[in-house]
Amino acid sequence: MIAAEALYSDNHRSDHEVHQSALALRLERLCVLLGVEGGRLSTIAAAGLIPTVTLGEYGPDIAALEAAALEQPSPFVQNGPCPRAGFYIGLVLASADGRPAMLLSLFDARPRSAEVAQSTAAVASDVLAAALVRRQQAVIEKQQAVIADYEALEEQRRNLFDRASATAKVGVWQCDLSDNKLFWTNGVYDIFEIARTTPVTRELTLGFYKPESRIAMEAARAQAIANCTDFSLNVEIVTATGKERWVRLTGAVESRNGVAHRIFGMKQDITEEKLLGDQTRYLAEFDVMTGLANRAQFQSYLQDLGRHRIGGLLLVDLDGFKQVNDTYGHAVGDACIREAALRLKASCQSAVLVARIGGDEFAVLTASNCTAQEVEALAAEIVRTIAEPLECAGHVLNLGASVGVVQGSGWLAEDLFRNADAALYAAKAAGRNTSRTFKPAA
Ligand code: GH3
Ligand code: MG
Repeated sequence: MIAAEALYSDNHRSDHEVHQSALALRLERLCVLLGVEGGRLSTIAAAGLIPTVTLGEYGPDIAALEAAALEQPSPFVQNGPCPRAGFYIGLVLASADGRPAMLLSLFDARPRSAEVAQSTAAVASDVLAAALVRRQQAVIEKQQAVIADYEALEEQRRNLFDRASATAKVGVWQCDLSDNKLFWTNGVYDIFEIARTTPVTRELTLGFYKPESRIAMEAARAQAIANCTDFSLNVEIVTATGKERWVRLTGAVESRNGVAHRIFGMKQDITEEKLLGDQTRYLAEFDVMTGLANRAQFQSYLQDLGRHRIGGLLLVDLDGFKQVNDTYGHAVGDACIREAALRLKASCQSAVLVARIGGDEFAVLTASNCTAQEVEALAAEIVRTIAEPLECAGHVLNLGASVGVVQGSGWLAEDLFRNADAALYAAKAAGRNTSRTFKPAA
């Protein structure tokens, strides 16, 4: 049975009038093609045939033939002797589910020879079948176009995801906990610098972690699996090409009936962010020229004296340093400041803090277990070591330093600093290259 669809057009299904005239046009074309005068297309209903379109002169003779056509195998061909239907072809057309849905009648007053009648019926069937194939092909092409559009969109989405992950240096990972099978998106392969086609296993991945990071990651992962919770930590890896990288690792556990079965998350290369953060923190707390703590860090120690429990403060200021700059230039001056810082640091290894707090001024916070004699000895040692001749840019220079000392703990920050400054002033006044200790009024 040929599908009734052969005579229909999708575009017209919703518009009754257009649909009717399109059907009439198709029926007319078919009649012209087959050389028959008339035709009728009817819907097969329980109550009988309901005509949809009719061409030519239809009458009771044809109705009788139609009734016969419904009882006979399709196509049903009748030649003579009815006056209105000397020749009749009845074709039953099927609905989408294969049941008889419509009857197509083609009729002509003039009878045909038996062969012509049979061949016309065959052509009618073929024409309808061909129309059906064409329509189905059009539907398939339309579907293929939709699939192609969808695939193009998917490809576009994949590209966008890959490009966005590459820019953000981020990738998605997943581990099936039943067999530890890993899945990575391209972004993760790129972070580890492994070819994107490499099969990945947990053993392979763990080999890239630095030992401390591996321990921290395994602990966070195990805890997340045990409690079915999320985790996040920064780890250090060494990539396949030997690059050291910081990676932010986030994970979430998916559970079934309270049992973890899948763990997944993101990995992001945060090396630059980490370095920038370290650099910013360094600049906030350290003096770039000497590598000693800067004035800000010194002041934060002073604000928190209770916690740092210091034994005393030494303020050190180079003597006649303007003269060094004036005589040898600023570059030599800088080299002298760096050398003085090195010597100071070497002398104060047990100190709580050694800081450069001004151009040629340094501060040393001694540890609380330092005795008064040890602090005095340290001040003398600083004076001695800075006074040692120094070679710079072909010149031998003799620097000197004055030191102001305050002993003991329990000072208010302002008093500690002011008294040390007074002692330093006293050392300068005493001729420089020496130290003085602040003596509290009795
Ligand atoms: P005094 O003996 O009284 O300490 O006098 P001074 O010549 O050492 O001068 P003072 O301590 O009052 O001033 C410090 C000088 O150090 C001022 C400036 O010329 C110099 N200075 C400050 N910062 C820098 C620096 O970063 N590099 C160099 N080369 N010189 C500096
Ligand atoms: Mg000075």
